[in-house]
Amino acid sequence: MSRLQQTDGLTDEQSELVKLVRQFVEEQIIPVAQDLEHADEYPTDIVEGMKEMGIFGLMIPEEYGGLGESLLTYALCVEEIARGWMSVSGIINTHFIVAYMLLQHGTEEQKQRYLPRMATGEVRGAFSMSEPGLGSDVAAIRTKAVKDGDEWVVTGQKMWLTNGGSSNLVAVLVRTDLGESDSPYKNMTTFLVEKEPGFGETAQGITVPGKIDKMGYKGVDTTELVLERHRAPETQILGGVPGKGFYQMMDGVEVGRVNVAARACGVSMRAFELGIAYAQQRETFGKQIAQHQGILFRLADMATKVEAAHQMMVKAARIKDAGRRNDLEAGMAKYLAAEYCADVVEQSFRIHGGYGYSKEYEIERLYREAPMLLIGEGTAEIQKMIIGRRLLEDAGRR
Ligand SMILES: Cc1cc2nc3c(=O)[nH]c(=O)nc-3n(C[C@H](O)[C@H](O)[C@H](O)COP(=O)(O)OP(=O)(O)OC[C@H]3O[C@@H](n4cnc5c(N)ncnc54)[C@H](O)[C@@H]3O)c2cc1C
Repeated sequence: MSRLQQTDGLTDEQSELVKLVRQFVEEQIIPVAQDLEHADEYPTDIVEGMKEMGIFGLMIPEEYGGLGESLLTYALCVEEIARGWMSVSGIINTHFIVAYMLLQHGTEEQKQRYLPRMATGEVRGAFSMSEPGLGSDVAAIRTKAVKDGDEWVVTGQKMWLTNGGSSNLVAVLVRTDLGESDSPYKNMTTFLVEKEPGFGETAQGITVPGKIDKMGYKGVDTTELVLERHRAPETQILGGVPGKGFYQMMDGVEVGRVNVAARACGVSMRAFELGIAYAQQRETFGKQIAQHQGILFRLADMATKVEAAHQMMVKAARIKDAGRRNDLEAGMAKYLAAEYCADVVEQSFRIHGGYGYSKEYEIERLYREAPMLLIGEGTAEIQKMIIGRRLLEDAGRR
């Protein structure tokens, strides 16, 4: 086993689970990832295998039928899965965020209604903040819910829903201007929208037009969501009270950031493995390219980045597990791991010479996947805004 990405202080149970996931990745994901990705095919068998292993309920407490594991265990499993194929980790990420939000902010009735079926993978979650006109600037959301008797009527257009087609439960952030506050942040509400999986009109007033054709991150569906006078009862408001949606979503995104950092760690690790293997196999000027100092230095640089990102991600997960605020550490971990991942993948690509450009080599796929990590759960600039503001806040307290 590689000396990289080792995690100190794991329980036997955590180590066993991560080992099991690694074996699943080796046997069920890596051998098929290339073909499925090139065909942009949904990995149905892999998803079924993950359901059997309980992956969809990893962090859902045992009382709701899940495994009750920590964020750290979850992140380490995600790291392993992304090492096999990043798209598969994308399939569980939004599900995990929605389950987490339900757990933290849902009413007991909502928890009972969804969490046991989310733990088995029968209910699959997607989450939706972005719109065609906004991503980073969440306060600019235009999709609107207006009260009509006992119900709310929701109209608007959402964009970039990971698992938008395959999910049957979407946490959607919308405006609900109740005139009680001038702050846009206090005028937003998360609705739990139930729909059928698939495309077209999948529930009353809900249309999922089709898959967005992407550069990478294929296999997993990313979609738009059109709400046209969708009627939602009060019971579908997360937590039962309007006006709390922004804070609920930010809480979800914060754990999502650890998750994206973990994905970046997995993709970097794979890129490093591919790079070091190729460097020992390819010869130029009478010796293995790994023996040229220029390549050796690349490998050293890559491995250092792989290791540093992992340790930072682990730290962010552990702080959250300890019940402490981790916005600073999660922002740093996400920022650093995503940037390092893009760099490590690029370096591995260069080690592969011309073959890195061939679809026969795995690095070509990783090269198209890594940029997504620079964007999802907030771009680098947004992470730096969060990090910077938190640092100033801390400095002001001293
Ligand atoms: C494959 C994929 C899957 C996704 N899945 C989901 C999902 O499941 N759910 C969901 O809600 N969203 C999802 N998204 C959307 C994603 O969260 C947004 O794309 C992201 O937040 C960036 O928003 P934007 O694309 O609108 O860019 P913009 O916000 O328009 O930003 C454009 C550029 O300006 C920079 N910028 C913006 N504001 C500032 C500032 N104040 N200072 C400095 N620079 C700034 C940004 O960093 C970026 O470089 C997904 C996106 C992709 C590509």
